[in-house]
Amino acid sequence: MADIAEFPMTDRYSRQTRFAPIGEAGQRKLAAATVLIVGVGALGASLAQHMVRAGVGEVRLVDRDFVEPSNLQRQMLFDEEDAIAVLPKAAAAANKLRKINSSITVSAAVADVNASNIESLARGVNLVLDGTDNAATRLLLSDICFKQDIPFIYGGVAGAQGMQAVLIPGKTSCLRCLIGSEDSDSEGDTCDTVGVLAPAVEFIASLQAGEAVKWLSGNQTAIRGTWLSVDLWSFRLRESVLPQGNSHCAHCGQGRVRTAELIAEEADPIGEDAIGSIVLCGRDTVQVTLGSPLLLGDLEKSLGRRGCRLTVNRYLVKAELPSGEQLILFPDGRVLVQGTGDAENAIKLCKTYLMQG
Ligand SMILES: [Zn+2]
Repeated sequence: MADIAEFPMTDRYSRQTRFAPIGEAGQRKLAAATVLIVGVGALGASLAQHMVRAGVGEVRLVDRDFVEPSNLQRQMLFDEEDAIAVLPKAAAAANKLRKINSSITVSAAVADVNASNIESLARGVNLVLDGTDNAATRLLLSDICFKQDIPFIYGGVAGAQGMQAVLIPGKTSCLRCLIGSEDSDSEGDTCDTVGVLAPAVEFIASLQAGEAVKWLSGNQTAIRGTWLSVDLWSFRLRESVLPQGNSHCAHCGQGRVRTAELIAEEADPIGEDAIGSIVLCGRDTVQVTLGSPLLLGDLEKSLGRRGCRLTVNRYLVKAELPSGEQLILFPDGRVLVQGTGDAENAIKLCKTYLMQG
């Protein structure tokens, strides 16, 4: 890479600072800001690129998944080499983003966002941007944002349709009040069941990024206070004003618990022998959470001895089992089991291959 000192990037933000509502003052605010992007798939990769190019000072990425060929149609930061190398999305994205803008801080966490790590991931950020693909994680993000007084920039896409809203603690209602619980059917369509069009993703990501730039550059009064739904195929656009916090809601109501008033809540630690699992929607993949970290070096040897075809990088080990399923092992104790949608079977495979040397 050429030395940046020889190619000063003084003009980098000139078109953005010439835009009057941002100006030099807004640019300085962007440079001082930190955002958390949860999920670095289609929405998240696009959001990350917008934040990095706009000059947001620190961009934190977190994602639990790795790059696959089926991602390349719409996940704009990734290429075939990333898929061949089985790179985690957070790491592959961070590599590209640092090349796009070396003057800001990009950090990447290869992890599953859950109640035990979200508080530390979100600590000190000015905004949380939603790049996730499931209601459970979105609701967790909404809860934590309303607890820590952080605006949450929601976005969701399936097929050619998308939705977007900026949820602001103390001002609007929370996501739970808008879409219901984890089990609600309001997010029934997913990109696994109805597919997804890349331009629909980019449309929603642009709306999210636009609102983020407004907020971070000190243009909070310009925030669009509506829930927007769009169908890019038929071009229908619906907009409704976001309701205020619901007085009966523990998250967005008047009685909501703010960070300062919080009694420290114990994170839900996973016991030594506790094995958890969730079926990732429609992908024929189960995420199994083992009770303890995985020693990838040792497992690589034992899986090799047992006839598995291995792909190894510094973040994970992918093992193709003789029976056809694939195990993707992460050092934090997570295993993505591909080739089965059955949680019991996935746990059985983990026990067979990972716990019986
Ligand atoms: Zn609420």
